[in-house]
Amino acid sequence: MKISFHNHSVFSDGSDTMQDMLSCAYNEGFTHFAMTDHIHSDQTPQWTVTYDRYEEYLNEIKRFKDMYDGKMKIYTGIEADWYNGEGTYYGRYESLAGKLDITLGSVHNLLANGGNYIIDGSRSDFEECLYFGFYGNIKDMVACYYESYMEMAENFTQADLLCHIDLIRKNNAGNAYYDEDEKWVKDLEKALAKKMGMYDRVTEINGGGAYRKKNDVYYPSCRLIEYLKNENVRFTIGLDAHSTEMVKGYYDASISYAKKAGIDTLYVFNDGKWSEAESL
Ligand SMILES: [Zn+2]
Ligand SMILES: [Zn+2]
Repeated sequence: MKISFHNHSVFSDGSDTMQDMLSCAYNEGFTHFAMTDHIHSDQTPQWTVTYDRYEEYLNEIKRFKDMYDGKMKIYTGIEADWYNGEGTYYGRYESLAGKLDITLGSVHNLLANGGNYIIDGSRSDFEECLYFGFYGNIKDMVACYYESYMEMAENFTQADLLCHIDLIRKNNAGNAYYDEDEKWVKDLEKALAKKMGMYDRVTEINGGGAYRKKNDVYYPSCRLIEYLKNENVRFTIGLDAHSTEMVKGYYDASISYAKKAGIDTLYVFNDGKWSEAESL
């Protein structure tokens, strides 16, 4: 089995067409591959499947599902955004619900101080969030991020997979803004792990950061994986592939990372539920 439940195309912010992504996945021997482009965003429409294109997006995946029928299992999916306090409202998720094989839940933005700030962007986006959203209080911002995931774990019942759950580390390489080893950070991670366990959530080993930033930043960190394992949270693979290069280049590295972090079983999604796929 070779699986990735998190992949993008030019329908959102990927660099290759769906056709190129899927033919590459097939050639690379993937058995299960989900197309999960970013859901509509008013703020950054150029990086998302805007809601007026939902039908076109669904039809395009359907075309390839038929083409690869019996050869590779393709999933119709979306990466939906959760906004703290507002849920999925801004992404117009409700008009897609029921038409998908898999729904991914992610937090890429924080609502704070009357604004909507991107935390999954550049350093200047991160600082805009920090200074205008949180008056420079990094603890409040990091807490808001983990609490958004806790809120999503509890309330986004249609989400099958919660993605890159410690993505806030993306702009914190070298502890640039806060010391990840401090107790308050560990406490937030433990609280999130507990919530994930309580609501029987599945998360992914996400290699997107490692590939795009050419470093070893995987989500979740080995420490957070430890906390998640203690709460019996299950794991799968989400390459978060934004190009065919990532489809080709990062599966083995993601598996090695999972093993290094002590994960012994991966889960696969079929007909609305997760089951044990294989032992590592
Ligand atoms: Zn994402
Ligand atoms: Zn993604």
